Formats: sequence, structure tokens, C-alpha cells
Amino acid sequence: MRKILAALIATTALAGSTHAADIYPLDRATILAGSPFDFKIELKGIVKAEDVKVTVNGKDYQSVFGKTAEFVAEEKADDKVLGSALILRDLTLGDGAYTVDVVAGDEKKSVTWDVYATADKPVAKNIIFFLGDGLSVAHRTAARIMSKGMTEGKANGRLNMDDLDRMAFIGTSATDAVDTDSANTMSAYMTGHKTAVNALGVYADRTKDSLDDPKVETIAEALRRTTKKSIGIVSPAEIEDATPAAVVSHTRKRGDKAEIVEMLLGVKPEVVLGGGSAYFLGKETPGSKRKDDKDYIKLFQDAGYTLATDKVELATATTTNTGHILGLFHTGNMDATLDREFLKKGTVEKFPNQPGLVEMTKAALGEVSKNPEGFFLMVEGANIDKMSHPLDWDRAIVDTIEFDQAIGVAREFVKTHPDTLIVVTGDHTHGVSIIGTVDDEKPGTDMREKVGTYAAAGFPNYTDADGDGFPDKVDVSRRLFLAATNGPDHYETFRPKLDGPFVPAVQNEKKEYIANEAYKDVPGAVFVQGNIPREGDSGVHAVDDVVLQASGPGSEGFKGYMEESDVYRVLVDAFALGTKQTN
Ligand SMILES: [Zn+2]
Repeated sequence: MRKILAALIATTALAGSTHAADIYPLDRATILAGSPFDFKIELKGIVKAEDVKVTVNGKDYQSVFGKTAEFVAEEKADDKVLGSALILRDLTLGDGAYTVDVVAGDEKKSVTWDVYATADKPVAKNIIFFLGDGLSVAHRTAARIMSKGMTEGKANGRLNMDDLDRMAFIGTSATDAVDTDSANTMSAYMTGHKTAVNALGVYADRTKDSLDDPKVETIAEALRRTTKKSIGIVSPAEIEDATPAAVVSHTRKRGDKAEIVEMLLGVKPEVVLGGGSAYFLGKETPGSKRKDDKDYIKLFQDAGYTLATDKVELATATTTNTGHILGLFHTGNMDATLDREFLKKGTVEKFPNQPGLVEMTKAALGEVSKNPEGFFLMVEGANIDKMSHPLDWDRAIVDTIEFDQAIGVAREFVKTHPDTLIVVTGDHTHGVSIIGTVDDEKPGTDMREKVGTYAAAGFPNYTDADGDGFPDKVDVSRRLFLAATNGPDHYETFRPKLDGPFVPAVQNEKKEYIANEAYKDVPGAVFVQGNIPREGDSGVHAVDDVVLQASGPGSEGFKGYMEESDVYRVLVDAFALGTKQTN
């Protein structure tokens, strides 16, 4: 018995020694010179403070960092002891290569950071960053064909995004998974650090508290720290949803939406336009999603914001000259363009006067461009993703067209403001491809036989008689056929969903998602077997690279293959936010 115990102890100790400590920022982190970040060491074992040796480039860390870390003897999750830790908040470093070595008992870890300086002088005064959520190659191609048409294999027109000068392929994976979400991805763009799925502006540590994780600076904070530029955030999603939140916030959990509103008020972007008012209202107010009674609408107004709740008020707000606009046009996510402008479905009856992305972009641009110091404006095409999840390709593509029209507003702006860098990119892709057409004129009732591939596809017959850039209708007789690579069990109807967004799957009593029978009797509908776990209600993000396009000063920094975190470096370089150390 004693022998077995000894053997057990030996193997446990061995297992312990194979587990190295974790250091944040992670190995190969790239960090803007002078940008504050939190440094954390997580040890697997319980050690004494004096037994932890931390060196930076071979010297004692305190002499390099100029600060002493807080030692936490025992970090816990519920009743489980996780190990000892060292935490040093708000560290800043000058440019250079840093190797951090940690030795504590039998644990060892070494990471290297590249702390980079930027150009001394900015090349761009303004940056407009367009983020098409989930924007994949298929969305772009379909938007071009649906909007402009195609004759004899050549596009009859070009999207605004087609004519930006530079291009790069962007890798989107998270620090903890190859497949990612909109929190980690946008956070990488907006901080220069990749992180874990669901995290914003922090490295994901091991403790349960979602608000104590090691922070990195966001671009909005870097701009506040080093410039007097204006900041604008535009998104038809809830404004505290992952993509817009990434511009300002720090949390391990993108679901901390009430806290994100507080962080938004902390940074005070000059223009904030989107949905998600439910998180601004105290819990007493009907429709509130807050658990406290704080009235953030009042807090923003007290901070000098003009409030707009529909497109008429938005037009007025742009003329009030308070310098700050808070536009909240929906309690949740704003409707897709197809519903808002054309079909009047979704929640349009309840929110009839939602502005579109073009109007919001114009309003935001008009406001932030008043600042002689320049601006950073983020515009999200959120519904590209929100409609791709339920495999509602018509809505996703019409939203891509509107997103492209918002890019057109920016391209018009740069004609008179050439000192503006425009970036257009996605945060991750969706598993979708255009494989041909669906042609109602083909004989028979079997919809599958009406799918045209290769020569049988011909060309779709969308029209744009009124020249608004949108197809006059999406339910034309020969339409694009987009197919998903993944999804839950569902019925393929081969038709646009004119009654409201597609709901491919519904939950059964076992909490599994099964095909939504509401579409079963659509003439010609076929059952499509799902290929993702049954807890998934919709299509998932794809791991494929996204395509980034850019034009204007600084855009030459975008080329070849880049990680999302590398994009930040080009942005801060264009603005010269981190100059070289002068010692
Ligand atoms: Zn998504």
C-alpha cells in the first residue's frame, strides 16, 4: 500500500512538472510601445513569493518593468485551488525585444514579446474601419452579381470594395481554438492581441471572474491616451455586442453587456449609433435587460450626448452641435436591410423608423469629421453575420450590398479628405458558397432538379429598375443558389424567405435542434441532414481566411498573409500612436 501511494505521489509530481506556468501576454505577443497592459503569471503549484524568479532579458523583472507585481499565494475557482500567481497591472514598455523567464519550483516558462514603435509622424489623419461581420468571399460575389448583374461571364458593375488598392489574407483563429467568434477577432483588430473565444480586450486567465483578466489597451483608449481625435462606433447590432464592444471594452465574457455599456461611457466615443437600448435602461423600465437600476441613457445625456431613437431624431441630432450623439434605434439588434427597407418583416412593425447603415455612416462621418484633429470611425455590417447564421442568404447578401453602399459613403468622403485610411474586412467567414442558380422555369415540381449547375446555371435574372443598387426583388425566377457547408438539420426550400428571417431549426424536448417543420410543406422543400452537434441552432463560423482590402495613406502595410492582430500595427502606425523610446 505504501509503495502504491509513493508511486502515485511520484506520478502526480511528474504530471505537475510537465505543466509549465502560463504568462500573459502570451509568447510572440506584439505590443505597441507605451501602451499599458497587464502582466500575469499563473503557476500550477502553490509556491512562496521568494521562490518565484522572474527575469526579463536576463535581468530581475523589477529593474526592467520599474514596478513590483502583486503576489497571490492561492488563486481559487470555487473551492478548487488553482495555484499561485503574480499580477502587475498597467505595465508599459519601450520598444524592443523582451524575453520573460519564469522559474518557480519545478515550473518553468519563457515568452518573447515584440514591443514595437510606430512611425514618428502620422501618415493618416482619419481611419474608417469597415467590419463586415462574417464577410466571406461568397457574400462579396453574390452582392456584386445581385446588385450589378452579369453578362457573358463579366460583372456589369463593381462594388465599392472592389476598387480599394491593397489586399491581404487575414487569419482569424483564437488563442484557444482554430474556429473563432466575433469577440476575439474584433478584439485582435482593435488591440493587436489575439485572445480566446468570447474575450474582449483581455487575455483569458484561469479565474472565474470575467472582469479581472489581464487587460490590453484598445484602439479607442490608445487614441484617448495619445491624441485628441474623435471616435465613432456604428453597428446595426446591439451596440454592446462583440464587434462594437471590442473598440472599447475589457471582459473575458462578451455576454457582460451591462458592464460593456459602462465601459462605453468610460471611453465616451463622440458618436455611438446602433441597437441594444435594453442594456441602457434601468431594470424598472419595461424591456430592460439590466440587473441594476442605472439609467445609462440619462448618464450619457448628462455627459453631453444628444439622444436619437429613430432616423428622424438622428437627422436632428447631427445638427445640434453638442459634439456627442448616442443613437439607440432598437432594444435589440436592428433589422436586416431586406426587412427594414423592402419586406417590412422581422421587427419593423415595432421599430418602423430605424436608420440604415448608409444613413448611420453619413451621420457619424459628418459628426466625427468636424474634429480638426481627425477621427477613428468603426462601421460594422452586422447583419451579414446575423443572417448567415440562420442560413438566410438573401438577407445576408442584401445586407452586404448595404454595407458596400456605406463603403461608398467613405469613398466619397476621401475625395475631399485624402488623408483618410479606409479598411474593409471581415472578422471571420461563414461556410457558404454560390454553386449556381435555382430556376423556377425548369420543368417539374422537384425543386432539386431546378438547381442549375455548370452550363445549366445560366445567369440570374435580378433587375434593378430604380437604380438603388438593390435588386427590385429577391424572389426572381432565376436566382443565385447559395449553399452552406454546415448547419443543423433543416429544410432547404430553394426560395427567399419573404415572411421574415429563416428559422432553420427549433429545439425539441431533449434540447436538441431539429429541422423546423414550418418549412416542410413548402413545395419542393428537401430535408438537409445537419453536420454539427445537435445543440447548435444555426450555421457556424468558418476557419477560412478573410479578405482585407484597404486604400489611402498607410494602406501599403496590408499585404500577403497577416494575423488579425497584425492589422492593429498598421492602424497605429498610420496614426503614429507609439513613437520610439528616446534613451
Ligand atoms: Zn457570428
